Parts: sequence; structure tokens; C-alpha cells
Amino acid sequence: MKLVYNMIDALLDFIYPRNIYCIVCEKSIKTNDQYSLCDECRGKITWIKKPACDVCGKPLDENDDDKSCVDCLKNIHMFTKGLSSVVYDGNIKKIVHDFKYHNKRYIGYHMAEIITDTLHQNKIEHIDYVVPVPMHKNKKRQRGFNQSSIIAKYIARNMNMNFNDKNLIKVRDTSEQNKLNKKERFENLKGAFHLNSTDLFRGKEILLVDDIYTTGNTVDACCKALNKANPKAIYIASFATGKN
Ligand SMILES: [Zn+2]
Ligand SMILES: [Zn+2]
Repeated sequence: MKLVYNMIDALLDFIYPRNIYCIVCEKSIKTNDQYSLCDECRGKITWIKKPACDVCGKPLDENDDDKSCVDCLKNIHMFTKGLSSVVYDGNIKKIVHDFKYHNKRYIGYHMAEIITDTLHQNKIEHIDYVVPVPMHKNKKRQRGFNQSSIIAKYIARNMNMNFNDKNLIKVRDTSEQNKLNKKERFENLKGAFHLNSTDLFRGKEILLVDDIYTTGNTVDACCKALNKANPKAIYIASFATGKN
């Protein structure tokens, strides 16, 4: 597996040499500039620090007395804990868009670097399986890749964990969640995910990876399938999230 990773890495470095250009403004940067971002673009990112929601990881207001966000006070989620690295605004919207729709897969490498640091900061270091939020095969055929899978693969490699994108699968092609109302969103995802083997994940600690966390409906639907295996814990790591 390591050999495959190295080959992919070498290929990516050949196509797009890392740490030469800023992934946002594409200006030249110094090789030691963190996450392949120039100082200016890095400075404009809203990094999620404390206080953040204890449940889903969304940023809270400085003077907020609650430990959870409004959404998590109202709705029960099916995962152990969620974390996001940055707020989904400005430049972050641009790089997520470039990554997903302009086929700039190397951005996923830097997103994974950022998430890896978030996981270390939150002491989430003992994971048995890193699992991407799955994409239906029709959509994957359209886009050519599952963006969550690219990020998850790099996180697993950075943290020396197992990557698995075969056990949790998406069996039903669903409409875009953001075009639906609350009730429709729930119905839309019903039975969309399936776990092939309950034995593999039984008693294990799972890290479920997505690019953006919004309502949590998608990861909850994934957790419903994952929970059939009775895992020890399910952590959610997403690159970006909105503020409530
Ligand atoms: Zn820049
Ligand atoms: Zn929350």
C-alpha cells in the first residue's frame, strides 16, 4: 500500500509541485509556507479554535455560555464527536470549489494536512479505520473521483491509520441536500448508505471524513449504517463548516 501512495505522491508532485504556488491566489510562495498558502491568504482564513460546539465542532461565539451550538441543542446526532478545521467562507469556498469542480486534486492533500493538525490538537490519534463519506457510483462516474476519499486517504497516511472506502457504501443516488427542506433532507437520505460487513468495524474507532459539515444530516445517515457494527466510537472530521 505504501508503494502505491508513494507512486501517487510522485505523480502529483510531477503534475503540480507542492509548496511552490499558493493554493488560493497562485502566487509564488516559500517552500516552508504552511499548507501551501501565502501569508496573506493564510491570514484571511477563519481557523476554528475554542470555543467550539462540544458535539459537532462548529465555532461558537466568544461570549456563548452553552457548550453546544443551537443545532446540537435541538437535534441529537449519531456520532461521538465532530471536528472541523476552518469556517466555510471567502477563500475556503474558492479552494473547496476548485478542488471539487476544477479537478485540482492536490488541494485535497493540503486539506488533509490541515485536518491532521486539527486531529492532533484535539488528541484524536487512535483510530482503527479512516472512512470517507461515500459517493454513489453514478456521481463518481460523473465527477471522476470522490473528494472525501482523497482527503481521507491522505489523513490515514499522515497519521499511519487504516483507510477503508469499501465497507461503507452509498447504495442510492440522492438529490443535492442543499436544494431540499429539513423534512425532505431526512427522507432523501433514508436507506442511502449501507455497511457491507458489520464484523470489520465491530468495537472499532472510526473516523468519518467529509469536506464540508453543514446540518450533519449526511454524516448522521452514514452513522446509522455504521452503528449496525456497534463501533466503539465514530468521530467526524470535516475540513470546513458554517457558523450557525
Ligand atoms: Zn495566496
Ligand atoms: Zn453543534
